[in-house]
Amino acid sequence: MSKERIGILGGTFHPIHQGHLGMALAAMDTASLDRVLMLPDSVPPHKTNIAPAEDRWRMLVAATAGIKGLEPCRLELDREGTTYTYDTLVHLHEAFPKADLYYIIGADTLMQLHSWHRSEEVLGLCTFLVCPRACETPAAEMGAERKRLTALGGRFLSVNMDPINVSSTELRSALAEDRPTPLLPVTVREYCSLLGLCGAQTRIPEAAAWMPRLFADLNARRYAHTLGVAHSARALARNHGVDQRKAEIAALLHDCAKCLPLKEMQRIATENQLTRDSSVLSSGALLHAVAGAWMAEHVYGVSDPEILHAIAVHTTGAPGMSKLDMVVCLADKIEPGRETYPLLAKVRMMAPLSLERALTATLEGTVSYVEKGGKALHPETLQTLEWLRKKTESNGGGASAAESFTK
Ligand code: ATP
Repeated sequence: MSKERIGILGGTFHPIHQGHLGMALAAMDTASLDRVLMLPDSVPPHKTNIAPAEDRWRMLVAATAGIKGLEPCRLELDREGTTYTYDTLVHLHEAFPKADLYYIIGADTLMQLHSWHRSEEVLGLCTFLVCPRACETPAAEMGAERKRLTALGGRFLSVNMDPINVSSTELRSALAEDRPTPLLPVTVREYCSLLGLCGAQTRIPEAAAWMPRLFADLNARRYAHTLGVAHSARALARNHGVDQRKAEIAALLHDCAKCLPLKEMQRIATENQLTRDSSVLSSGALLHAVAGAWMAEHVYGVSDPEILHAIAVHTTGAPGMSKLDMVVCLADKIEPGRETYPLLAKVRMMAPLSLERALTATLEGTVSYVEKGGKALHPETLQTLEWLRKKTESNGGGASAAESFTK
């Protein structure tokens, strides 16, 4: 069996950005790595005013969720005291004695290697994968340094990729000035803006207390999804004149019960007499919305009935649902990280234009998906569809939303 090839990308990740993700993926290709461990450092001695370690960790987990081969690793975060790459590499050799280790760096970091703790020993512990990056050092100087380190036993490979022109420093400035950040994952931008990290203004102060709980209760993909839904809900709310703060809070908490075991959801529902509907009680896919609204109120402390209602109806819909309800329901279906499904592109296009039409199309899609899977459809969804169609007809439109999209 060939040796496992493990990449390591250490960084402050304040915040993690597309440059980090892009270099990890390109390094994986160049050196045929089996996986890349992404290691946030704990207390970087030379950097001040850094976001708390656990926030940088949660942003990393959200940003890498669903990207095959990228694995967040807490090794340096959980170590007490100063973090040295030398110790990390020794530890990883002990943990994976049969693996070859590849340490991924940007070209700017190559010039700093000489100052690392036990730098000459570090050279013998891994192969360096060097990613191109614009920096002030002239190419000739960089080449000379690489030669010098190679003579000392260092092994270097250039990663085959176009430079990605971004840094955490630039992104923090953009967040501070509320400028667009196309090279920051949406989930990370949302996290920073909610909590006021990496230069952003705090948008929802309560979220600082909610995030650890949400993170503990949800798996990585669900957590990333939640941040994506909060981002989309806010954008849709702005488009349709709905309260953006309420939309963002409802979206953030809409799946707070989703990863609980069904038995726990059932306990919450029966002890608090949330529903007697046996079809809801027997299905986590339906019950998490009702249990989630209860948790939002009693665990997270949200008292606004409009927010709680939006959480409770986000899966089935409800006849007479408010615009806020529609925004949350739709954001759940169109957030940027959503896996594709028939009609997704059209629902995404339609949602900023007409909540009713986009929601009709989504629910029609749900009906055919549930029916194809041979599962029972909850009557509330059909009733909502009927209500939406009547509402659209009275506004002057006849055909179903899905039909009118495809015409
Ligand atoms: P800052 O601007 O705060 O210094 P950064 O964007 O350089 O942050 P770090 O977390 O310090 O991010 O970087 C970790 C590693 O990733 C370093 O080796 C750095 O050189 C490399 N790196 C970061 N961004 C890029 C990029 N866009 N292209 C290539 N390498 C990068």
